[in-house]
Amino acid sequence: MTKTPTPKSWIEAIHAYVPGKSTGADGRPLIKLSANENPLGTSPAALAARAVEPSRYPDPDSKDLRAAIAALHGLDPALVVMGTGSDELLHLAAQGYAGPGDEVLFPRFSFSVYDIAARRCGATPVVAPDADYGTDVDALLALVSERTRVVFIANPNNPTGSYLPRGELTRLHASLPADVLLVVDQAYAEYVAPGDEDGALELAAAHGNVLVTRTFSKIYGLAGERIGWATGAAPLIDTLNRIRGPFNVSNTGQAMGLAAVHDQAFVVHAREHNRAERARFVAALNALGNHGLRPLPSEANFVLILFEGALTAEAAYSGLAEAGYIVRWLPGQGLPQALRITIGTAEQMDAIAAALRAMAEAAK
Ligand SMILES: *Cc1c(COP(=O)(O)O)cnc(C)c1O
Repeated sequence: MTKTPTPKSWIEAIHAYVPGKSTGADGRPLIKLSANENPLGTSPAALAARAVEPSRYPDPDSKDLRAAIAALHGLDPALVVMGTGSDELLHLAAQGYAGPGDEVLFPRFSFSVYDIAARRCGATPVVAPDADYGTDVDALLALVSERTRVVFIANPNNPTGSYLPRGELTRLHASLPADVLLVVDQAYAEYVAPGDEDGALELAAAHGNVLVTRTFSKIYGLAGERIGWATGAAPLIDTLNRIRGPFNVSNTGQAMGLAAVHDQAFVVHAREHNRAERARFVAALNALGNHGLRPLPSEANFVLILFEGALTAEAAYSGLAEAGYIVRWLPGQGLPQALRITIGTAEQMDAIAAALRAMAEAAK
């Protein structure tokens, strides 16, 4: 037997991230409502900024983009760090503050990257029970131990769409030890109605143990460019800057991100489209009557539907694929009874609601 390199045991325990699919089981391309991408595409201003000299390394500090983000959100640019998607920053937060013997805490039914981020640095993931699919602050606090180093919260949460209001997030932070890092993943924050913000940016500005992450992948329609950012106290940002990739946002990503920040009209339009279509879709599902389809309240750009009647989530998933739509069925995340459906165009949502109605009535 020849010797082979042996991966670390904690790396071997990782189940690789499962991305949203874009084709059916037979390989046929389907309309993709499985990855929470923007159905309106990308800001035309960002598209126009696309061509950039590819033979040159990008600005390692993404200076212009950071300045624009800081100006938009009223932040000090020195307290903004860019990532190759917020995904990179979530991993760096875990790696910077946790390792073997430490615990990383997050709610059940939250973003599947948290488990990978915890294990990747050798820490132990600890999963707090949900409260009817929502984030339960008391359940999280009950699991904080001397080994807890990082707590991850997605707000709004993926895949449930649930939202922890400002008071609850403040209470969670106030009850955590000051040496536990609270990461508030705000990937969907721009979809929240203005005035209903969760206050995480204020917490990050006022305390030494709060990191907020954001992304250009969702409302900005730039998922393919891999642009994320984080803000927090100077020592936290310093840690992330030490271990991030030196050229972690591409030339095109920096240019498109900058143009996208300057086109807030696109963001407002996308938020309003999402709010209207989400409300219409949920109303159509609720109008089905007693078929056991339960859409959970969502503040994000998707709805998680629980199938509690004769029609199963698995059958609905196959039926929607037949109708030309790929959505997210999540048995691997402990949700075999649910489908997560990204809010698409009005026509797409009408077609999906009609297909679900037909299947629910046939199954009864
Ligand atoms: C989509 C998503 C992200 C974004 O990841 P990127 O790497 O920025 O594309 C982060 N967190 C959550 C909860 C998400 O759903």
